[in-house]
Amino acid sequence: MGEHVRDEDLLEKVTNLAKRRGFFFPSAEIYGGFRSAYDYGPLGVNVLRNVKNAWWRSMVQMRVDVVGLDAAILGPPAIWAASGHLETFTDPLVDCRKCKERWREDKIDGVCPNCGSSEFTEARAFNLMFKTQAGPVEGEGATAYLRPETAQGMFTNFANVLATTRRKPPFGIAQVGKSFRNEITPQNSIFRTREFEQMEMEFFVAPPEADTWYRYWIETRFAWYLALGIAPEKLRLHEHEAKDLSHYSRGTTDVEFDFPWGWDELEGIANRGDYDLTQHANASGVRLEYFDQATNERYVPYVIEPAAGATRAMMAFLLAAYEEEIVEGETRIVLRLHPRLAPYQVAVLPLSKKPELEALSREVLSLLQPHVMCDFDVTQSIGRRYRRQDEIGTPLCVTIDFDSLEDRSVTVRDRDSMAQTRVSIDDLAATILSRLD
Ligand code: ATP
Repeated sequence: MGEHVRDEDLLEKVTNLAKRRGFFFPSAEIYGGFRSAYDYGPLGVNVLRNVKNAWWRSMVQMRVDVVGLDAAILGPPAIWAASGHLETFTDPLVDCRKCKERWREDKIDGVCPNCGSSEFTEARAFNLMFKTQAGPVEGEGATAYLRPETAQGMFTNFANVLATTRRKPPFGIAQVGKSFRNEITPQNSIFRTREFEQMEMEFFVAPPEADTWYRYWIETRFAWYLALGIAPEKLRLHEHEAKDLSHYSRGTTDVEFDFPWGWDELEGIANRGDYDLTQHANASGVRLEYFDQATNERYVPYVIEPAAGATRAMMAFLLAAYEEEIVEGETRIVLRLHPRLAPYQVAVLPLSKKPELEALSREVLSLLQPHVMCDFDVTQSIGRRYRRQDEIGTPLCVTIDFDSLEDRSVTVRDRDSMAQTRVSIDDLAATILSRLD
C-alpha cells in the first residue's frame, strides 16, 4: 500500500526532512551559509557514524587480511608531487560568457545550467587541492596541503604497516576520514561538497592475482550496499572504458546509485597497479616492496582500491529509505533505514507522563542504552510519537503503559509493518538485538 513519491521531489523532500529533523544543516547558516559546507546534526551524526561503522565492521572487523589506519590530514607537497595530484588532480573549468558563472566542463553538456547559454571560455585546468601553510613562517618550506583523498596515507605507511603487523600480500590497509577538494561546483546537497568523508581501502596483492582481486572487491562492495538495504534496481556497476581511465588505473568500476538526478557514482573500485608504491619509492628513496621468503622473490605489490564516500553513501541511504504512504487516510513519512544505520535503534515511549510510568520507562531505557542508541519521548499522543519516529527511521518503539506496571511487559511496535507485540522486560534487550540485522 506504500505510495512512492515522484523522483523529482525526492531530493527536496529528503533535504527538507534533514533540516527539519536535524540530519544536516547548511554550515555557518546564521552567517548566511558557507560555500556548500554542511554540519551534521544530532540525528545525522549518528547515521554518518553508523555508515562508517558498518563499513569498518565489514572491511576490518570481520576480516583478518585488512588492518586499519588513521593518517594525518595535513601533508607536505612531496606526497602530492609523487602521487601525481599536484600535476594532474584538476578539473576543466569554464566560464559562461553570458552570466559569468563558472562550471566544470565535463558536467554541463555544453549548456550553462544558470542561463542556458552555450558560449564558454576555453577550459582551464583547475587544481582541486586546498593549499595552506604549516607553522608561523610563510614561504615554500611551509607549504602544506589538505589531503584530497585518504589513500596516500596507506601508501606512505606501507613499510610501517608491513613491519609492525607481519602481514603479507594479499592484505589491505583501511582508513576512514575527512578529505578536501576545492570542487568547482559542489551540488546536490551532501552529494558533492568541498569537505567530505571517505572510506578507502588499499589491498596489496601479488601482480598475477590483481585481476582476480579486482573482481572480488567489485562484487564485495556491491553486496555491501545491498546488505544495508538498498534495492538492487537502485544500484548498478559501471566499468570505465580504457580511454577514460585515470593516469594510475589499469581498470576502474564504479558502483552507481539511481539518484533523483540520474545514475551517479557512489564508489570507485580501481586496479592501481604498482603506480603508487613505485612513485613513492622513487620520490622518497625508501624501498616499498614485499620480499617473499618462500620464493626468495622481491616485488612491488599491485593495489586494488575500493574508494567510497561516507557522506555520499549517507545521502544515498537516506534517498533509498524515504517513502510516503497513505495510512488510514493520512500520509505517513517513513525512512526505511537499515536498523544498523538508523539514528536511533529504539525509542522508549511512556504512554503518559504519570510518574510511575516515567520511572519504569527510565528503567527500560537504562536496560537498552548499553546496547543501542535510544530516543526518549514523552510529549504528545502515542500516535504522533510513532509518526515522528517513523520519519527519522527508528525501527522499533517500546511503549510502557499501565499494564506494564502490573505484568512487567511492554509493547514493541515495528516501524515497517506497524505490528505490535508484547514482550517481557526481562527479554527486551535480547529481542531487540535479534531484530537489528
Ligand atoms: P567525481 O568524478 O564525482 O568528482 P571522483 O571519481 O574523483 O569523483 P574518487 O576520487 O574516486 O571520486 O573518490 C572516491 C569517492 O569519494 C567517490 O566515489 C565519492 O563517493 C567520494 N567523493 C569524491 N569527491 C567527493 C565530494 N566532493 N563530495 C563527497 N564525496 C566525494
